[in-house]
Amino acid sequence: APSAARPHVVLLASPGAGHLLPLAELARLLVEHHGFAATIVTFSGLSDTEALPSGLPASVSTVALPAVKIDDLPDDALRGSVLVELIRRSLPSLGTLLRSIGTTTPLAALVPDLFCSAALPLAAELGVPCYVFVPSSLTMIYLMRRVVELHDDAAPGEYRDLSEPLEIPGGLSLRRADLPVPYRDCNGLAYAQLLRGGRRYRRADGLLTNTFYEMEPAMVEEFRQAAEQGTFPPAFPVGPFVWSNSDDEAGASAILEWLDRQPARSVVYVAFGSGGALSVEQTTELAAGLEASSQRFLWVVRMPSLDGRTCAFGIGDDDNPLAWLPEGFLERTRDRGLAVPAWAPQVRVLSHPATAIFVSHCGWNSALESAASGVPTVAWPLYAEQRMNAALLEGTLGVALRPRAREDGGVVAREEVVAREEVAAAVNELMEGENGRAVRRRAEDLQRAVARAWSTDGSSRRALEDVAAKWKAALGGGT
Ligand code: UDP
Repeated sequence: APSAARPHVVLLASPGAGHLLPLAELARLLVEHHGFAATIVTFSGLSDTEALPSGLPASVSTVALPAVKIDDLPDDALRGSVLVELIRRSLPSLGTLLRSIGTTTPLAALVPDLFCSAALPLAAELGVPCYVFVPSSLTMIYLMRRVVELHDDAAPGEYRDLSEPLEIPGGLSLRRADLPVPYRDCNGLAYAQLLRGGRRYRRADGLLTNTFYEMEPAMVEEFRQAAEQGTFPPAFPVGPFVWSNSDDEAGASAILEWLDRQPARSVVYVAFGSGGALSVEQTTELAAGLEASSQRFLWVVRMPSLDGRTCAFGIGDDDNPLAWLPEGFLERTRDRGLAVPAWAPQVRVLSHPATAIFVSHCGWNSALESAASGVPTVAWPLYAEQRMNAALLEGTLGVALRPRAREDGGVVAREEVVAREEVAAAVNELMEGENGRAVRRRAEDLQRAVARAWSTDGSSRRALEDVAAKWKAALGGGT
């Protein structure tokens, strides 16, 4: 059918590679496997708003909403808070766009990303099913649910903190310091936003989560029960969405050619996502640790943070981060290491036969991508929900080792420093040690689970088919 006649799914993307890439992959699947037309809507106004990846099928349209002003927000506002506000202020132009799409094609569903839940009432107004896309774990959504439940059992206006430690289905026990910052303090602005967002999620028709059964089995069961009891909308584990673009990104071929020259399973891949930043001291320790380990490495070096923040989207993107490496480091390691500034084609690096292990900030996409390629992780969480992801990878799934950070009395307000000896020890253990061997084997098991989830009768494939069938049925078009 010509794509004008196809039922249309509109997806709302919040900025950041970790959100855009999996949403783009979802859009591609809806178009190529399920017969929908798809439009991805992006928001403008943040300096670091990245472009959508190239290589989207022509049938996926993209629209950028006009920029809104957000420069009145406090400088130290959390990134999530800024995103929520950016999207709230863009709602009028979003409404106009949706109405105009709706006049030419049947609107099958609105799919706002996690931070775009402010669009839920708009979907209700238009009578369109609304499925929130969660680029993160089900565990994240579980935390949000708990916050809402806690508050709704309390006296009006009274906020309460989550208990400590927080016991999570699946046996994880989280300290307050393991929770994302907004969850740690019930008096913060971000906590109130969580509460509002969490309440809106309850009114969604469903959630599409970028996870799969074997990544979070206890959570999938937990949410299945909640949906049966009618206490929360159904959460469909439809991932992992791994954006496997084969187009040439800048600098990609030089990196892949270098990998081609390395022996199988010999390279330590080091990367901290699109926003992770280390201090200058930590950069020095990491470099010295890699050097001391004697392993081959591919390190995506980002500008160090000079103000102690571990999250630095778009800061210093024009500067040369390699200039901050210790003196002589590049020279001394040139025959076994490659340091590249800012960005590498991660999915292709992880699936390259030369890659052995991943030193990672444990962003959820990175966690899924390493699962999909069977690569075990040295967990190095920095911000957002990364500590929780690290706990899941290390504690529940057993596919990661975690280097010890210098003790600072349990207070995590400032960055802990991982000393060079700990870097080298963790890397060498995961490459060659006995413990490391067990971790490596479990990573291979998890890779097989990813393959099963996407096989003909696999859990993720079936879940996405269910959702697509519901959307079509609601339009009255059958299949
Ligand atoms: N990524 C990449 N090259 C890099 C760093 C990141 O391709 O050098 C991609 C990575 O494959 C992942 C996304 O960017 O898909 C980052 O998402 P993640 O959730 O891991 O971390 P975030 O950037 O959101 O902290």
